[in-house]
Amino acid sequence: MAEKEMASNFIQNAIEEDLKNGKYTDGIHTRFPPEPNGYLHIGHAKSICLNFGLAERNHGLCNLRFDDTNPTKEDTEYVDSIQEDIKWLGFSWGNRKFYASDYFDKLYDYAVQLIKKGLAYVDDLSAEEIKAYRGTLTEPGKESPYRNRSIEENLDLFARMKAGEFADGEKVLRAKIDMASPNMVMRDTVIYRIAHATHHRTGDKWCIYPMYDFAHPLSDAIEGITHSVCTLEFEEHRPFYDWLLDSLDFNPNTRPRQIEFARLNLTNTVTSKRKLRQLVEEGYVRGWDDPRMPTISGLRRRGYTPASIRNFCEEIGVAKANSLVDVAMLEHSVREDLNENADRVMAVLDPVKVVITNYPEDKQEWLLADNNPMHGGQRFVPFSREIWIDRADFMENPPKKYFRLKPGGEVRLKHAYIIKCEEVVKDADGNVTELHCTCDPTSKTGDATANRKIKGTIHWVACKTALPAEVRLYDYLLETDADGNVPDDFQHALNPDSMKVIENAWIEPSVKLAAAGTHYQFLRTGYFVVDPDTTPDHLVFNRVVGLRDSWAKSQKK
Ligand code: ATP
Ligand code: MG
Repeated sequence: MAEKEMASNFIQNAIEEDLKNGKYTDGIHTRFPPEPNGYLHIGHAKSICLNFGLAERNHGLCNLRFDDTNPTKEDTEYVDSIQEDIKWLGFSWGNRKFYASDYFDKLYDYAVQLIKKGLAYVDDLSAEEIKAYRGTLTEPGKESPYRNRSIEENLDLFARMKAGEFADGEKVLRAKIDMASPNMVMRDTVIYRIAHATHHRTGDKWCIYPMYDFAHPLSDAIEGITHSVCTLEFEEHRPFYDWLLDSLDFNPNTRPRQIEFARLNLTNTVTSKRKLRQLVEEGYVRGWDDPRMPTISGLRRRGYTPASIRNFCEEIGVAKANSLVDVAMLEHSVREDLNENADRVMAVLDPVKVVITNYPEDKQEWLLADNNPMHGGQRFVPFSREIWIDRADFMENPPKKYFRLKPGGEVRLKHAYIIKCEEVVKDADGNVTELHCTCDPTSKTGDATANRKIKGTIHWVACKTALPAEVRLYDYLLETDADGNVPDDFQHALNPDSMKVIENAWIEPSVKLAAAGTHYQFLRTGYFVVDPDTTPDHLVFNRVVGLRDSWAKSQKK
């Protein structure tokens, strides 16, 4: 425990140290900086919880900033979905929603300043040539023949790049640092490129766009971010960010402090927007919010709650080393939440009819049933002569110690009577079509006479009043190796049985008016949520998770 607390706190420790040393007098200021080129996924949820969480915990502020420097890949659909997802998770950026594109003018001026200081130059090499000149980890790079252009020439060419005189790829602006640096990012990183593309916010105003490595640290500095929390792959970019801010005379004592943490990797799951987009665009799933997707919108539709995702992010903590988290831990988290907060109802997914032959045909009783043992609350459930039970709750030739229904055997119907199986009715192929039972009228749950104990209890739904329902069962979208890693060619690892649709399930009438997003525990079956496809005449449920908690079990060993 102590180890985990320390691990989850190394960023918090750094912040406390800075506050104690009086480094940031106006309090701390973080940001969540998504690129609006796809929907957010569970990895982003970790970053959101971390950045907004650190601000909350330290009475600081957290900005939402769209890093929108790549016009061809970005879209307002993504901008909208990102905001919806952050709000749904329960965080607020107040009036601090920003866009890197808000700063395009400023960023251009900063680039001009670099040129004037002799720290940036316009290069005519092609992308392939730049790559070839860059060298490798073991060999230094080679200087571009255009590297020593005069400041005047560079200013003129950069202005003409902005004015649209050149085609895409014809020229770039590069930082002038050190082609022999052991750090590849320091080998004259490209900071501006030409792209004749319409931007979702600035339209056709610009045909040159800043590169992420240029825009990101400057946006942080412009917004007065104190702690720039990011994932590990940016560690080697930090020297460039420092170089850039030094070169532009930002105060080294108050500029953003970058702290890196390990990104979240989950077993059975891809967390890359590029791959997720491929799944959507190539039609492997029904959309970004398909309940099998690890997107926040997919998890929401699947029935995950904001609390379950926040608790999960809290539980996994923050670390400095990459690791793989078991997806069963995420499932455990939603199970815990729904166990406490979802009402129990009865539903039969694989129905077989039971006729209670000694129960009058025209009789109907309303039996009292508990909604949730932790919160109390009760409802009435109708009972009548014909009911549905789950096929798996009857066995004609059961093994010993089978305590559900069997020929000549007894079982308790939850909230109702003890019944005894008297006759098994089959069709010509030998399939069981009906079970004829008798009930013990003195055994009704709650009655003073119901003093007979019986081992098995099963759920049921009365036929006359049952509502038909479509129930969608999910399994992992992708097959993995034994450790839970998804292969790189994930398109070939799709699980053909990741979705199973049950068209003819039956459910008790109390759920008739349940709105999309309402959670239930189907007794003995699992946790379910009402899908947005539902209508009062056609109920649709998604299974969130089953009842069996493999994670909690593995922790007890
Ligand atoms: P992807 O690889 O899915 O495209 P990204 O890092 O390019 O992710 P951004 O929109 O740039 O996507 O991410 C916004 C923020 O979320 C960044 O600060 C990034 O570091 C963080 N982030 C992205 N993926 C993860 C992850 N798996 N775990 C933790 N943080 C993440
Ligand atoms: Mg990114």
